[in-house]
Amino acid sequence: MADYAPILAWIDAQQPRMESLVSRWAAINSGSCNIAGLDRMVQELTDAFAVLRQPITRIPLPPRQIIKADGRMAAEPLGVALSIKARPQLPRPVLLGIHFDTVYPADSTFQQARRIDPQTLCGPGVADAKGGLAVMLIALEALERSPYAGNIGWEVLLNPDEEIGSPGSAPLFLSAAQGKILGLLFEPALPDGSLVGTRKGSGNFVFVVRGKAAHAGRDFHAGRSAIVALSHIILALNKLNDRGPDITVNIGRIEGGGALNIVPDLAIARVNIRCRLPEHQGQIHRELDAIIKQAARTDGITVELHGEFHAPPRIFDEAHALWFKRAAQCSMELGIPLTWRDSGGACDGNRLSAAGLPTIDTLGPVGVGIHSSAEQISLPTLAQRAKLTALLLLKLAHGDLGKP
Ligand SMILES: [Zn+2]
Repeated sequence: MADYAPILAWIDAQQPRMESLVSRWAAINSGSCNIAGLDRMVQELTDAFAVLRQPITRIPLPPRQIIKADGRMAAEPLGVALSIKARPQLPRPVLLGIHFDTVYPADSTFQQARRIDPQTLCGPGVADAKGGLAVMLIALEALERSPYAGNIGWEVLLNPDEEIGSPGSAPLFLSAAQGKILGLLFEPALPDGSLVGTRKGSGNFVFVVRGKAAHAGRDFHAGRSAIVALSHIILALNKLNDRGPDITVNIGRIEGGGALNIVPDLAIARVNIRCRLPEHQGQIHRELDAIIKQAARTDGITVELHGEFHAPPRIFDEAHALWFKRAAQCSMELGIPLTWRDSGGACDGNRLSAAGLPTIDTLGPVGVGIHSSAEQISLPTLAQRAKLTALLLLKLAHGDLGKP
């Protein structure tokens, strides 16, 4: 058994550094579509990750296709991803990843971190996932400072588009998963410190309904209301929720209509659909087709459906169970019991698991109120999680985990 205590003590000593990195990064708005802010984060991360002494590669992402409020497609620019590889010649490397975008747009009123009490920092992205970036950095730095670093290779992937479903970076994760032994993602842990086990799959869909405009007074019966047709679609979609908790359909946003004296010829619904099992995806596609066909039976109404499942469900198989147990063992050695439970949330971990890479995706700090203006991070969990990740990496490098 190696003596990891000095390395773990070094991590404890980095707690103030991690706290100041998180405050500093939280003050940079990096909403998924704020390219200027994302570029600033790329520069900050390039500077911070330079301590790992490995080449850092910038990968510009292709634009994503969106449906605008006028029903037309448009290209929206995405940011730049960062890739760092250490000792790629070694077999069975580890993939570490996390996003640096947040859900808070450039004009959000939530722009700065503030300390609520000695252990709690409130701010945009402090837990999701700027705290995770700090945890990953310190854990890797600890590994690199240890005598065991030369035994394993690793690859880091930092992406700027996770909060919008990783439209540009998903292919990077899929190719990075190839040949790896383990995936580690630094999404925030659940509020009680648990890891996430299974995850639902998630898809975003846009229904664009077109009808026929007419004067509401002179010619009302010649019009075909896209809003009324969309309403039928929405009610049919919502009915899919009646079958139980495995499939959920959230009508997140509707747009359409204009002046009240015009029969509206355009209405749009944006919908998020989640499901527990891979086979649910085909079932949902068939249900959506049937709903569209029914709506299009109305004379003068056409319906377009855009979108797809961007994250497949995560099944917790034997390989995942093995790695989660190893992580729990490391955590016990640090004096912190570790459990896991299921979540409806999706992340890049869904993709990695579906690509066959066992992935622990909630190694970031404990966060509460994520995706809201009450987002908080439990500061002591920064060092805790960095030690957990470092211990897992150190044992893997030293061969203390047994043959996977
Ligand atoms: Zn996240």
